[in-house]
Amino acid sequence: MNITLQKGNLSQDLKDSLVRYYQALGTEGDYAGHLLKQWAHDDNIIVYNVAGESGPVGWIVYNPHKSLVEQILVNKDQVGKGMDALIEKESLVAAEVLRADKDAYRVLVDYGFRPTRTYTSDGFDLAKLDLSTAVYLKKIAGKRPSEEYPGTETVVVEKVPPTHTHDEIKTAIISILDSLGGLEAFVKTGQTVVIKPNVVADHGMKDGVYMGGVVTDLGLLKALVEVLLPVAGKIIIAEGSSINRAETTKMFELYGYDTLIDLDPAKVSLVDLHQDKLVKKAVPRGKRMLSRDIPVTFEKADTIINVPVMKIHFAAIASLSIKNLQGALPPLEKYMSHYFGLWQNLVNIHHLVKPNLIIIDGLTAQEDFGPVNGSPKPMNLLIGGTNAVATDAVTMSIMGLDPALSPPVRVAHMQGMGPIEPEKIHVTGVSIDEVRSPFKQPDINLEGGENLFVHAETACPGCRGYLHFVLFKLRRPDPQHPGKLLIDRPFQRKVNLFLGPVTEAEPKPDETNIFLGTCQQHRKDMGKHLPGCPPHTDVIMKGVFSLYPDVELPQYADQTAEEKLEEMLKEVLKGDTP
Ligand code: SF4
Repeated sequence: MNITLQKGNLSQDLKDSLVRYYQALGTEGDYAGHLLKQWAHDDNIIVYNVAGESGPVGWIVYNPHKSLVEQILVNKDQVGKGMDALIEKESLVAAEVLRADKDAYRVLVDYGFRPTRTYTSDGFDLAKLDLSTAVYLKKIAGKRPSEEYPGTETVVVEKVPPTHTHDEIKTAIISILDSLGGLEAFVKTGQTVVIKPNVVADHGMKDGVYMGGVVTDLGLLKALVEVLLPVAGKIIIAEGSSINRAETTKMFELYGYDTLIDLDPAKVSLVDLHQDKLVKKAVPRGKRMLSRDIPVTFEKADTIINVPVMKIHFAAIASLSIKNLQGALPPLEKYMSHYFGLWQNLVNIHHLVKPNLIIIDGLTAQEDFGPVNGSPKPMNLLIGGTNAVATDAVTMSIMGLDPALSPPVRVAHMQGMGPIEPEKIHVTGVSIDEVRSPFKQPDINLEGGENLFVHAETACPGCRGYLHFVLFKLRRPDPQHPGKLLIDRPFQRKVNLFLGPVTEAEPKPDETNIFLGTCQQHRKDMGKHLPGCPPHTDVIMKGVFSLYPDVELPQYADQTAEEKLEEMLKEVLKGDTP
């Protein structure tokens, strides 16, 4: 049966049904009156009239400002289909229910919503539930955005000779700019340009020599700065590294970025975004996080140029221009992005930090276990564009990957940020076919041990990738049981790790259960829950290694800094819904 949604209004019929619904529920207080009063004062509220083939089946009241389903009043057997129609229109949504409304809660959880917050509003105890991103990705598989992307985008693919000389790189940059309207289309005389490279972490060094494919190539940045210098008033190279976040300045030095200042000390500077002042900005049509603290450097920019590296990402499938903006955030925002949903929050950042130009560094790319532990792959390419989704989609196609498989690219595409459809992207320079070279993808190994079981049938690449990394640390000798690996330790109680929205196995009370991520949040009272979407590596590491109190916790990032961020997040959670 087809379900359609039509925008309507707060009709008397709807009001009466709402009153009857809460009277039947028999809860204390006039919750229907509370809702009606709120909606009457909120111009944002959308009432969707839900109809089946044989007529109306109810209403969904939706707040687009918070991407929140405020009420579902739909015949029970039509709720799922009504919700399908809603997320096709509105993408990733959340829902709010009265905690006493157990039926509504159960229906939402069965559909794929997960309880993420509880709070009180005007004396009513409420629960907020976020739709699982894995469920959303499954629901939209093979679908196009509800509104077609208007027009087409141009992406330029430029080959660079394998020698990567300064002049060769510069020629390719100029050629990209010419194809996109010339330098003057991006920078006017005296303007401030912020270049956002990728300096994710201090990896990729062998015997003191950088092997390539981890951070944005220094030669590319030098050539880009030289192209900009005759016009720009200021050029700021700005980054906040993602691993060991206090070390950005050291990493600038490690990779030789400090030499960029010598090109023109009066105009060129480096900014560690983790030390920058911040400005709070509301996310338009906010999803997951409704506001973000953005480094002020981006506010001062007339032009932002995003210069990521072409690489595989063990959880995001590819780390390109969309993923690179995670580095544009201060440490607490990075940490919170994981907690509230990394994929959606990467899209949110693009509403606030808007790169005008993207140049993807495909001189030496990275395959296998990227973004930091993979292998360099010479591609001898620069890929330029002005639209993040289109530029990432073309780059993924060159890497032999389906752009729809990268969660952040797919979410951005479905939310209208840009096209991935080949017919909507005009590729100039060389063709994708001419330079396509499939990238080796990481072998994600979620195999458990003799008494440790992983249930991950429906998990998205996020939790799968991060858990692989942690399980890898368990595949080493167990000091308590010679001849065995830690992962095979004979625990007295069977250990289960649950991830993804649905698992074939059900948690049992007489076993040890660890639940990963937002998708498993509804089970958190049955064991240990590791929050996040995907949970931060550090959170999974600590959670899983709590099974091994005698074993030293592997060091992933600066522990003191991570613990401080955890405390700061707790403070945030005490406040209003972000
Ligand atoms: S919690 Fe994990 S499996 Fe679920 S959507 Fe998030 S990253 Fe994917």
